[in-house]
Amino acid sequence: TEPDAVPAGSVREEYENLTDLVRKYRFAYYQEDEPLVSDAEFDELFRRLEEIEALHPELVANDSPTQEVGGEVSAAFAAVEHLQRMYSLEDVFSLEELEAWITKAEAGVSKLGDTAQLAWLTELKIDGLAVNLLYRDGKLVRAATRGDGTTGEDITHNVLTIKEIPTELTGTGFPPEVEIRGEVFIPSKAFAEFNEALIEAGKAPLANPRNAAAGSIRQKDPAETAKRPLRMFVHGIGAREGLETLSQSQTYAVLEQWGLPVSPYFEVLRGLPEILAFIQRYGEQRHNLMHEIDGIVVKVDDLATQRALGYTSRVPRWAVAYKYPPEEVHTRLLDIRVQV
Ligand code: NAD
Repeated sequence: TEPDAVPAGSVREEYENLTDLVRKYRFAYYQEDEPLVSDAEFDELFRRLEEIEALHPELVANDSPTQEVGGEVSAAFAAVEHLQRMYSLEDVFSLEELEAWITKAEAGVSKLGDTAQLAWLTELKIDGLAVNLLYRDGKLVRAATRGDGTTGEDITHNVLTIKEIPTELTGTGFPPEVEIRGEVFIPSKAFAEFNEALIEAGKAPLANPRNAAAGSIRQKDPAETAKRPLRMFVHGIGAREGLETLSQSQTYAVLEQWGLPVSPYFEVLRGLPEILAFIQRYGEQRHNLMHEIDGIVVKVDDLATQRALGYTSRVPRWAVAYKYPPEEVHTRLLDIRVQV
């Protein structure tokens, strides 16, 4: 036998199988915009991978999916380098895990010498597709998908069809070069109407708003993209030389002043009880919002503290995504049948 052969039934074998599966599912999700499994199933596999790596650090490969931002660059698009890297988000799947995460972050920050109670910018996790907009001298010159975080796909022509994304920034104070990050999505109502029209025309409906948004923005023909009801909310900045904002929330105010679409659904909160109340409130309204959400994002509001906490190779250490428990799809399908 070969020295490196994988012993059957070993942890290494499970680890390698999981790695392969995660890669395969990521490819289908990011490259083909056609997921093979539900997000909940994918999250469970990913979590198991992280668990094995925590228990067996010797197995962790540099190119493990846990060390990378998922998403490659398809040959169908020109590859573009982001000026500043784009990241994913660390997920937590229960309120207990969220509490542990917040407590640890607050303790870490007070060790850095900041003893004031942290302000947390809390907002909806939009179930769409991450896009980076590059403005030079206030003019939109390029738009790209996140890709692997370093290199994305050039989708400028398609993004230009989204009316609410300004081709020129308004107001003052924008740096000569600034990267704006956000989420492109299809609002729930527009998605339902779009699908109805497809069905009426005898065509197959789109599976869900997230993949529809990703598929729409990654069309070869911008005229096709223009037919899709795409929207965007911005939620961050990449390269920003010369822009001196102090907090995430202040940055949002600046983005709004520049004419960029900022989500109305964010609040600056202090302490866990306020965050939990936000999560509960939006959990109840989840299906009555203008867009689909797959969770809540909690970010340290102060930018100096964000810089002090920094990043891992995959995620910022100053933000976390709480994912709502997956819903019983079967029950919902049955409900629909009953209504019919
Ligand atoms: P993610 O979607 O969990 O989180 C990171 C992304 O959230 C960011 O890139 C950003 O674009 C987005 N985001 C939305 N609202 C935001 C806000 N308000 N502030 C900041 N960012 C916000 O991470 P990911 O790495 O893109 O993907 C992982 C997730 O994608 C998984 O948890 C899974 O649910 C799904 N996925 C599913 C499959 C599948 O086969 N079903 C495969 C791969 C990934």
